[in-house]
Amino acid sequence: PAAPSSNFLRAIIENDLAAGTHKREGMPSVITRFPPEPNGYLHIGHAKSICLNFGLARDYAGRCHLRFDDTNPEKEEQEYVDTIMDGVQWLGFTWEQGGEEYLHYASDYFDKLYEMAEYLIKTGKAYVDSQSPEEMAKNRGNFSTPGVNSPYRNRPVEESLQLFRDMKAGKYKDGEHILRAKISEDAMASPNMNMRDPALYRIRHAHHHRTGDAWCIYPMYDFTHPISDAIENITHSICTLEFQDHRPFYDWVIEMLTEGGFFQRPVPRQYEMARLNVTYVVTSKRKLRQLVDEGIVTGWDDPRMPTVVGLRRRGFTPESIQLFCERIGVSKADAWIDMSTLEGALRDDLDPKAPRGVAVLRPLKVIVDNFPQGESVECNAPVHPHIPALGKRSFPFTRELWIEEEDFMETPTKGYFRFTPPVGDQPGSRVRLKYGFVVECTGYEKDENGKVTAVHVKYFEDSKSGTPGADNYKVKGNITWVSAAAALQAEVRLYDRLFSDPHPDAGGKDFMAALNPRALEVVNAYLEPGLANAKPDERFQFERHGYFVADRVDSTAGKPVFNRITTLKDSWGG
Ligand code: ATP
Ligand code: MG
Ligand code: MG
Repeated sequence: PAAPSSNFLRAIIENDLAAGTHKREGMPSVITRFPPEPNGYLHIGHAKSICLNFGLARDYAGRCHLRFDDTNPEKEEQEYVDTIMDGVQWLGFTWEQGGEEYLHYASDYFDKLYEMAEYLIKTGKAYVDSQSPEEMAKNRGNFSTPGVNSPYRNRPVEESLQLFRDMKAGKYKDGEHILRAKISEDAMASPNMNMRDPALYRIRHAHHHRTGDAWCIYPMYDFTHPISDAIENITHSICTLEFQDHRPFYDWVIEMLTEGGFFQRPVPRQYEMARLNVTYVVTSKRKLRQLVDEGIVTGWDDPRMPTVVGLRRRGFTPESIQLFCERIGVSKADAWIDMSTLEGALRDDLDPKAPRGVAVLRPLKVIVDNFPQGESVECNAPVHPHIPALGKRSFPFTRELWIEEEDFMETPTKGYFRFTPPVGDQPGSRVRLKYGFVVECTGYEKDENGKVTAVHVKYFEDSKSGTPGADNYKVKGNITWVSAAAALQAEVRLYDRLFSDPHPDAGGKDFMAALNPRALEVVNAYLEPGLANAKPDERFQFERHGYFVADRVDSTAGKPVFNRITTLKDSWGG
């Protein structure tokens, strides 16, 4: 693979390696983690985080853990755990190393988290607050106003401890009490809102997808995350920019518990990077869910969706997504990455390896009047123009053929070298039917609406591609075609951007108003007959039309349905 491009995280890691910052007996010096919450499907933003975290571990002889951050029982489900595991593996990564599985769940740490919470209470660093949620919100203040201490802030340690145990025992209703940190005497006046007595535990009488009804109190993300990182000996904990203000609390939790003997130095460090925003899509789970729930798309795996399952079904390869992530790199400033960068990566991945094929998407009949009815001549084309070892494909030339509608012009514009009819004593144009014969246009038919319905041609028997006679014909047009008698009729789905606005949800805009009504066009196409054997997930370049995949859901044996992944060139311009 190409040398990984440098970025600020690599610089940090290389410094740490040189300084021995995270050197520990029997452990790699780089341990990262990908910590999804199992409350939805992975999207392209998660893919970036996966490629980054697993990629750093691979490049620095470390390891990367997959950790489910499952502390919100109401929103989490096994279905999401399964699709996330599947997505990470499909992208080309594994949490297994040297026979060990580094697959973790924050819920596996519930006992430890609870013990650490009690420790913080006993050492005066946490207290049970009994204000109502409204009072608590009001007393927190805001960016310009310091918060007000809770009247319960100085309640005796023993009282907090008893209340916390009773919370755990199920003696209270949701929201009646909450466990909060007491970072310092004047923490409620901190300019960082995250330091104003942040919540550590809340009461939730809810069924958890793994721990069932064992718990009715659940730890908060900001408490769980640093502890999970420290338990797993994570060295570099990479998150997105919005967590920058949470870092002081992350460090405080780990410091307090390290002083309390729960962890040993060196401890994990948090680093922040910009989120990935891609033009023409949304990447918030809530908004993606809305598209699914309102039937705008057919499901999480709809090929228009920027989810990992959607990209996969659309035909994107894991390699193209890895290449995309490598190219966009990581930065500390939020920016939009153009969708064409992802499409470019797909083209660069597939061009050197995808087998070729011919598809006629908007068919127009061609009749070769001097070619005998019922006969055929076998024609050949390379499976791949630069990989002779892949061999040849073959398909018949017959009296009736399909070409693209746009390959005939009744009144040609300047520089048009495809089919044009004879005018007066000027003969019609001559073109090569690619891999077949040179033909000359002799006429055409129209229906009552003036629509051209057939083109008549005569062929030159000695002009077949690959035969000595072929060189005697110099033509400017080279046109793709398929035999009408032999063509495979297939449904082809032409996908376009899901939104017509490059920034559908920027600045709080109504993203649903920006939906692209032409995001999907279904055509009944005529394909080269050999494509009947395409297996689900098999990808091709259809000459001039782009890259296509046999849909992994709707294709059946002998009857593939194709999705266009992307066109051959970036048709969207700058
Ligand atoms: P969403 O906002 O879509 O719900 P999330 O950040 O809440 O996403 P998590 O399941 O918590 O989703 O994310 C798991 C990991 O993926 C986190 O480390 C998070 O930083 C990272 N991640 C999520 N979205 C992006 C993104 N757009 N760009 C980069 N990393 C992301
Ligand atoms: Mg999250
Ligand atoms: Mg989020």
